Amino acid sequence: MATILLVDDIEDNRKLLEFDLEDDGHKVLEADSGPAALELLKTEKPDMILLDVNMPGMSGLELLDILKKDKKYQSIPVIMVTANDMDEEITAALDKGANDYVIKSSSHLVLAARMRTSLRLKKSQDDLRRANKYLEILATTDGLTALYNRRHFFELSKKELSKARRYSRPLVVAMIDIDHFKKINDENGHDGGDKVLIEMAKRMRSCFRESDIVGRIGGEEFAVCMPDTDIDSAMLPLERVLKAVSGEVFSLSRVHRERVVNVTISIGFSQLIEEDTELTKAVRRADAAMYQAKNNGRNRIVEYSG
Ligand code: GH3
Ligand code: MG
Ligand code: MG
Repeated sequence: MATILLVDDIEDNRKLLEFDLEDDGHKVLEADSGPAALELLKTEKPDMILLDVNMPGMSGLELLDILKKDKKYQSIPVIMVTANDMDEEITAALDKGANDYVIKSSSHLVLAARMRTSLRLKKSQDDLRRANKYLEILATTDGLTALYNRRHFFELSKKELSKARRYSRPLVVAMIDIDHFKKINDENGHDGGDKVLIEMAKRMRSCFRESDIVGRIGGEEFAVCMPDTDIDSAMLPLERVLKAVSGEVFSLSRVHRERVVNVTISIGFSQLIEEDTELTKAVRRADAAMYQAKNNGRNRIVEYSG
């Protein structure tokens, strides 16, 4: 059912609890001290910790303190097991972040009920965290290619722009547009076009650094913001993308049909200049350069030149 870590210095106490917990269907891990528990937590991930308050060396409250201050462990619910119901001890434990407490003399039924409550709470917190993570992905990425969506691309790039301006660091913005994509759609269907976009995003992402911001900002239009990059060093990844796309056919195989498509892209780019108080200014120049690349015959890179 759940994995429970028992921390108690007295073996008899652990054994007693272990029998009951295993009867309830839980998997039980044991530690006879705070340091032993911390060692065990390096490799195990229990769903809950039952923690004895009175232990020689590191007390239960001290261990609780360490657990609740550590990001890795703070979401594991802790139920304190105390020998008596001294108010100070109980309030200190709850204030430090314990979920609950039980007194050693209480029946196992009480402990089991309190454990269920804490496990339920933990599950709903985990569910909520997962749902939030999912919502964040939905809000920031493009559903088809998994690249950043337009809004998030601009949001992240604006932050990079202010950093670049503050520290006088270079920054390059590039616009990348698929050539004659309408024709690709016409000849291979919308599904085929979608497959090209997905593969295109994959090839593009692999050409840039982790710190470069790559987004899909329109149908077949992509943008890249490269922090700490000047014109010369931007050429390298951009040439890599151009080759990664035009150098190898895109395969749109279906069950009984082998189909390959040649894809090319046009790229325009521009470096951040003193007057760029807003990102859109640099984007507009990169866009103008991209149209220049289209006019010059497509499948090429053009640097904005005014
Ligand atoms: P150019 O070389 O001048 O860029 O020509 P183009 O045909 O690529 O450009 P145009 O802007 O005329 O056409 C873009 C096409 O992209 C039109 C639109 O139907 C298609 N498109 C936009 N979004 C998607 C999408 O999500 N999936 C697919 N399959 N097609 C899309
Ligand atoms: Mg003890
Ligand atoms: Mg196009």
